[in-house]
Amino acid sequence: MSHLMNTYGRLPVAFSHGDGSWLTDTDGKVYLDALSGIAVNTLGHNHPTLVAAISAQAGRILHASNLYRIPEQEQLADKLAALSGMDEVFFCNSGCEANEAAIKLARLYGHQQGVDSPATIVMEKAFHGRTMATLSATGNRKAQAGFEPLVSGFVRVPYNNLEAIRTLARYNKNVVAVMLEIVQGEGGINIADIDFQRGLRALCDDRGWLLICDEVQCGMGRTGTWFAFQHAGIRPDVVTLAKGLGGGVPIGACLAAGQAKGLFKPGNHGSTFGGNPLATTAALTTIEVIENDRLIEHALIVGASIREGLAQALAGCAGIVEIRGQGLMIGIELDRECGELVTRGLTAGLLINVTAEKVVRLLPALTLGADEAQELVSRLARLLRDFLAVP
Ligand SMILES: *Cc1c(COP(=O)(O)O)cnc(C)c1O
Repeated sequence: MSHLMNTYGRLPVAFSHGDGSWLTDTDGKVYLDALSGIAVNTLGHNHPTLVAAISAQAGRILHASNLYRIPEQEQLADKLAALSGMDEVFFCNSGCEANEAAIKLARLYGHQQGVDSPATIVMEKAFHGRTMATLSATGNRKAQAGFEPLVSGFVRVPYNNLEAIRTLARYNKNVVAVMLEIVQGEGGINIADIDFQRGLRALCDDRGWLLICDEVQCGMGRTGTWFAFQHAGIRPDVVTLAKGLGGGVPIGACLAAGQAKGLFKPGNHGSTFGGNPLATTAALTTIEVIENDRLIEHALIVGASIREGLAQALAGCAGIVEIRGQGLMIGIELDRECGELVTRGLTAGLLINVTAEKVVRLLPALTLGADEAQELVSRLARLLRDFLAVP
């Protein structure tokens, strides 16, 4: 521990192995995992199909280089294009990298349009990553503090407020793109209104701006559609993915369509590891299992049952502000800070997360069973009632 940089306030527990939505720690205690490594373990832990595919791939080839063709990468790009309606894909290794690619695309696009100092509109409470550009795009002053000077070229507006963006458009002639999460994750499970999304799409078309959707957390089936923007029936110009894409193996992707297509040329962007055979095989297999087991439909149903179950179990419980979410991306907002629920959950054998100080965040695996969902509801409801009963 002492040789690790102090970047995380870690909980005093380590896991030795997992099975589906259950994790066992090094002392043998078993936990119900309602977080899946922050929306990463899409298929739960130790999924036999994913384990077999990764093992077989490791026995063939792990890495070659993007200096050569990578068939698994080409297949995954085809698959993602078919699922999303997007045209082309750049592969990298994480969410912030996918967003870096998106931000670079927006700038390239801007310059092509004759805008010398292109700006991207970003949202309050947004989270886009920890690299310098994505940190600058993130709407959290605490995360940014101490790392100034930030990268310029971002203008911030309130979430879900089309009028604020219209107003900005009137006097800021440098805007070339709008970037947002359709469901804000770190910001506290805030959902973009369908009207806002459609209005934004129309405004972007009207102004010739790129619409960039950061689906790093809300994508890959989590909200009950492959991508959260599909609830509104819109198609963005750029979509970024990571977290759940590889089912636990690091991989990120930046997808482009329409005016954002064909902007990068050889030499403009790259990644040594991006889209390697191991990571792309993991993603292809994850997608295959989601399709074969109809996990997207499942996420929609189980997610609704968790929200309803919690609403029932917590009825009349003072201190609950709102239970919201889409599919298996769920937030329970309290009227007070509740970070200590995480350690209380640990004691009770339940892995949850608290974000935006007051929001309990649930991001279980898409494979969470109906009975496991009920167990999650009963453990969490007990935890919340106990916590809120204390003055
Ligand atoms: C987690 C997250 C990121 C950053 O992803 P990393 O893989 O940690 O770089 C970016 N955007 C959103 C919406 C996220 O939830």
